Amino acid sequence: MPESATRPVAARSRADNGDMATLTLTAKETFKPTPKSAAVPSDETVRQIALDQIVTNPDQPRKSFYQDTLDELAASIKERGVLEPIVVRPFEGKFQVVMGERRFRASGLAGKATIPALVKEMSDEDAHADALLENFQREDMNPVEKARAIQGLLTFMSWEKCGKTLGVSETTLRRSLELLELPPFVQVELTLRDPQPGQILLTEGHCRALGALAHDPASQKRMVDKIKIEKLNVGDAEKIMGAIVKHPEKREAFLRVPIAITEQLLKTLGARAEKAKPYRPQTAEQHMKAIDKIGQQLGELLDERVIEYLSAVQMNQMLATCAELGRGLDEFNRKIRLALKSKEYGFQETYIHCPLCGRVELVGSLRCSVCWTILRRCYDCGNYDRTQEKCAVNGGRVYVAEAESPKEYSKSYKCPDYKPKYDAQAVKTLKMAA
Ligand code: SF4
Repeated sequence: MPESATRPVAARSRADNGDMATLTLTAKETFKPTPKSAAVPSDETVRQIALDQIVTNPDQPRKSFYQDTLDELAASIKERGVLEPIVVRPFEGKFQVVMGERRFRASGLAGKATIPALVKEMSDEDAHADALLENFQREDMNPVEKARAIQGLLTFMSWEKCGKTLGVSETTLRRSLELLELPPFVQVELTLRDPQPGQILLTEGHCRALGALAHDPASQKRMVDKIKIEKLNVGDAEKIMGAIVKHPEKREAFLRVPIAITEQLLKTLGARAEKAKPYRPQTAEQHMKAIDKIGQQLGELLDERVIEYLSAVQMNQMLATCAELGRGLDEFNRKIRLALKSKEYGFQETYIHCPLCGRVELVGSLRCSVCWTILRRCYDCGNYDRTQEKCAVNGGRVYVAEAESPKEYSKSYKCPDYKPKYDAQAVKTLKMAA
């Protein structure tokens, strides 16, 4: 038996040009080769075979041969030669590589004319099985290649036998095969190496987390971008996926906001769920107070200091979220009007002009929503007697100066008796025409 087969599996390294290494499918499970997988009959003799007499196996499970590691191996072969023979089988007048394609390729790069090889008579099935098992012993085989190799083994092995051969549980086999159910663009992420400076690579953990959005490839793509842009670790990605599964109606928000805000959002949603109580009718004033409070909380959440910590992409996401919030408020506004108009409450919309920009506002605001100027309630009121400088309804004195430039504490603010001088319907028409 070759020396390398007797060494502890974990002690083998990729630098060993025997090219043996551990397969780590989970943190605890390591590859345990069976006698068949390691089987190279001890009575076989090693022959030097010319490289031009050897062909590669097109069904080789390993598709990625990274140039940098091939160059390293070629340098080692130049220095020390090929320490462990490759395994070949007679094939169409030549020899086909069964195990050791990297050594074969690197020998070519190193300028060698021959390579030590063991020639074995093998059926197609045995050659395929040995090639797959040999590849499993490499630590640089990517997770998708491993999953494809397991798939290949299962075409001629039972699940039980495959698990025993690889020394892993059936659950691990299934988890590995799940990777092949991911969309191609996610699988490609798992085959990438050598990230650019400042970039991260997706791991199996990231990709498994994406499985929660299996029915929505577009969102999976956005999540992949989010993981890369925000450099999320597996825990963060799982947290976002878990949040989307738990609160599907907030999926858009979870995909857009940074992870720090995701946590805050989850806390708010959790607290809200805890506090959820049966609906109790409230007065209009109580509803107004509640809406006012939420508005203030939202304002605090979107404090301008947050901007210092946001990237341009995140700012765009924030603006898009605010635009949606605006649309939500418009819908809220529309429903309130419909509700009020559907009942015979005698409800009538009442407007007031902004003295600075001319915008027509619904009465109820202290300031113009555009230019923030204080609105002149008495000055525009039909009950205001300008010559007497007083209110015709309550007889209170309202000086012209105050009517023209009211202060925030002016009594007229919130006056329930305000009656605009102009026709509300005409103002609405004017507004719609504008
Ligand atoms: S009714 Fe109200 S708004 Fe109108 S003039 Fe009197 S105090 Fe001012």
